[in-house]
Amino acid sequence: QQADDVAFLCDWLRRAAQAIEERRDVLSALDAAIGDGDHGANMARGFRAVAEKLRDPPADAASLFRLVGMTLIGSVGGASGPLYGTLFLDMGKAARGVPVLDAAAWHALLSAGVAGVAARGKAAAGDKTMLDALIPAAAALSGTDSVRKALARAADAARKGADATIPMVARKGRASYLGERSAGHMDPGAASSALLLSMLAETAA
Ligand code: ADP
Ligand code: MG
Ligand code: MG
Repeated sequence: QQADDVAFLCDWLRRAAQAIEERRDVLSALDAAIGDGDHGANMARGFRAVAEKLRDPPADAASLFRLVGMTLIGSVGGASGPLYGTLFLDMGKAARGVPVLDAAAWHALLSAGVAGVAARGKAAAGDKTMLDALIPAAAALSGTDSVRKALARAADAARKGADATIPMVARKGRASYLGERSAGHMDPGAASSALLLSMLAETAA
């Protein structure tokens, strides 16, 4: 991979860390409504640890994705730590040997990461989880577009996917303990996924 790709990814991850920090309380408030109220704090802790690692980043994108995954697994805690960790680890596996992160590569990477999350969480579309933002985002990356356009579409799809979790009844994670009472609130993991995708699109813009 080109040094350009690593620089782009570092730029994204730093922006993501800042955006998560800024929205920490909003994310935790979403989680307070249908979970245990820690999602913003969990994500802020994880991305602070990621930003720390970016001071001395690896030379290729695959290794960087892997480092991010390991760091999130080691620092986020909660259900979302291993799931976001898997997302980045599996994106890293898919990135191995990919010469340049064009739109087709992003489609392949995010699809692999999302499949990993679904397998790890034993969850599917409609379960009211981060997958309801991530699955449409990955799907939106298909097509032969510029990276900028493809990532803008993905961010838009993730935002709509997160919004669509509001009426859903949770079938996975803590929110599922609430049953029907989980309806009427956005899933916090879907909200944080949409935020990550929106920062990715912003980085490419
Ligand atoms: P915890 O629930 O352990 O406190 P977080 O609050 O950090 O962890 O993360 C909760 C989020 O994790 C949920 O909003 C949901 O998006 C996601 N999540 C939980 N369980 C699963 C699962 N089995 N599959 C996919 N995502 C899940
Ligand atoms: Mg929580
Ligand atoms: Mg928790």
